[in-house]
This record gives sequence, C-alpha cells and structure tokens, in this order.
Amino acid sequence: MLNFSATINESDLRLAIVECGRIAYERHLMTSNDGNISVRMENGHILITPSGISKGRLSPDDMLIVDLDGNIISSKPGRKPSSETPMHLEVYKHREDVRAVVHAHPIFATTLTVADLEFPVDVLPEVLLTLGDVPTTKYATPASHEDAEVIRPFLKTHNAMLLRQHGSLTYGKNLDEALVHLERIEHVSEIYWRAKMLGEVKRVSSEAQAKLIALREKYFKR
Ligand SMILES: [Zn+2]
Repeated sequence: MLNFSATINESDLRLAIVECGRIAYERHLMTSNDGNISVRMENGHILITPSGISKGRLSPDDMLIVDLDGNIISSKPGRKPSSETPMHLEVYKHREDVRAVVHAHPIFATTLTVADLEFPVDVLPEVLLTLGDVPTTKYATPASHEDAEVIRPFLKTHNAMLLRQHGSLTYGKNLDEALVHLERIEHVSEIYWRAKMLGEVKRVSSEAQAKLIALREKYFKR
C-alpha cells in the first residue's frame, strides 16, 4: 500500500496515509499529535493530515485536500490542515519527482540536533550508499513560514534532513520511500548514541566512503 505507483487513486492514497501514520506512531517516530504526512495526487493537489490529531489514530476521511498555494479544496467539517503544510508544499514545489512527504519527531535523530551534533553520515555504510549526506537546517519557529525557508537550500540535493530542535523531513516517490528514509536516519542515530555511550565511535574510512558514494551514483541515485 505504501509502495504505490503514480496512478494510485485518492481512496487508496487515504488508506496509505492511515497506514504510514500507524507505523510511524507505533515506532515512536511521531508522538502525541506531532508529525504530518502528505502525498501528491495525480491531479497535482496535495492530500495532507489534519492538525491536532494523533497520526496513530487517523481515519481515511480525516485528510484534507489543498492546492500548491495552500488553499483548501476539500475537508471534513472542523478539520484544519496541518500547521506545517507550508513546509510540505515547499518540497512539492521544488521537487516534481516527489509524491510523498513525511515530517516526524524521531527521538534519537532529533536529540542529535538538540545536542548540536551533526548527523553521523559515516558510521554505517548504508547511509552513504542509499541516502548520502543528511544536513541539519537552521532553527525555525514551528508552524511558521520559517519552516519552509530553512529547508529550501537542501531540497534539490537531498531526500532527508533534520530540522534543528524540531524533527525530521523525508520524502520520495511514494510513502514507502519517505518512511524508509525516516526509519534509516532514526536507526543510525540510535546506534550512534549507543556507541557513544560505550566509548569510541568508529568511522568509515575516507577511502571506503569514496567507494560507497561511487556505488550510490551507480545504483541508488534518483
Ligand atoms: Zn513538527
């Protein structure tokens, strides 16, 4: 369901968002009412989660439809689009290839930004192989236009980033890809944290990093 193709219909997209929200909530990638999920529909409109609702307990009809300027096209009475909608729209405006965006508050990855540590791109080979660098944005006031501004420098060149003292932003051609990126950055962040607790953190050598980057160019790059 999450690994959808470009021709998926609206009702299946609604079900895919429900499933993505449940997985993210159960894996502690989104807590309380935090986080938001959106997909681009075939007609170019965006289907997005409402504000103020746990993503672990969504119904298919909870989602709203907005256009790329943020105008509400349709919604259930009483529902407002996520306050972080402008950040999602910024991704779709800059990346025509993107069909799904997931903003989450993963514990370990967010902790790195609170501790002012860079994302550890060089501790496990799969990061450079599949994701590449994961930058951290400047601090922005949540639910403001600043959210969209701080991500802009990285949108064309990255598929995952950390939002300073806030959370994560991942996107891809479908929800599966966006969720896989999110799970990967949280997994690596947790291993890094645990390794630091044990002592020395081993880094992948620069020669090995060059090989991984070459392999990524060949097999994984969009
Ligand atoms: Zn947030």
